[in-house]
Amino acid sequence: MPKRRRIYEGKAKILYEGPEPGTLIQFFKDDATAFNKKKHEVIDGKGVLNNRISEHIFTHLNQIGIPTHFIRRLNMREQLIREVEIIPLEVVVRNVAAGSLSKRLGIAEGEVLPRSIIEFYYKKDELDDPMVSEEHITAFGWASPPEIDDMMSLAVRINDFLSGLFLGAGIRLVDFKIELGRLFEGDMMRIVLADEISPDSCRLWDIKTDEKMDKDRFRRDMGGMLEAYREVANRLGIMNENEPIRGKGPVLVSSNDD
Ligand code: UDP
Repeated sequence: MPKRRRIYEGKAKILYEGPEPGTLIQFFKDDATAFNKKKHEVIDGKGVLNNRISEHIFTHLNQIGIPTHFIRRLNMREQLIREVEIIPLEVVVRNVAAGSLSKRLGIAEGEVLPRSIIEFYYKKDELDDPMVSEEHITAFGWASPPEIDDMMSLAVRINDFLSGLFLGAGIRLVDFKIELGRLFEGDMMRIVLADEISPDSCRLWDIKTDEKMDKDRFRRDMGGMLEAYREVANRLGIMNENEPIRGKGPVLVSSNDD
């Protein structure tokens, strides 16, 4: 296979040049990182699960008219996506207090928020992604006021859709992070959902037991991260129980059934 040009390598994904202009291939790695890469581990099979879970979510979002960069999944670890200009912001939507919000404002983890809250963080590893306000975003030109409006209304729609999707699977959507990009089509530009949505970027709690089914298992050294991600996939009806995700080594099959 000819070597593809690598456009960008991040913590959990690699972007390669796509087969046609305006497309890219998004490859999901097995690397798990937290605290701005201070903690790092390879979790065999995580990339395969995130690829499938994110495909499931983005496909449904496309179907209900929320524009995304996703075109189709290509294989176990790769998706074909549209090339967009990433807006240098992480948009976090919260329904229940957890993580940095609990720490910053002293609100107990698990407390249902009076309403969903949207926050912006500036994507800058060297600064540990600081929280910023609309004032910073417009003053420094990261996004314009109408783009901020678009980002917020997309975030609200995505939150409503995801909350329902996960609720149907017995999972509470506590919070999540999205990234958005500018998609240029001729003279037109629109804001679309980019990156991924997976248990790496969401807080997902079992509706009955509050058990964590997301990356906090890794951040907080709880173990069982892969099993939790697999459970999310199973509950969403994405992968059957026995489907291999590690994809390494020979698979033993019975050669004679007689
Ligand atoms: N999040 C993420 N990437 C980041 C920071 C946060 O995907 O770089 C997600 C995180 O998984 C959670 C939500 O955004 O679902 C809110 O995270 P929070 O601000 O509480 O930060 P944390 O406690 O993870 O540092």
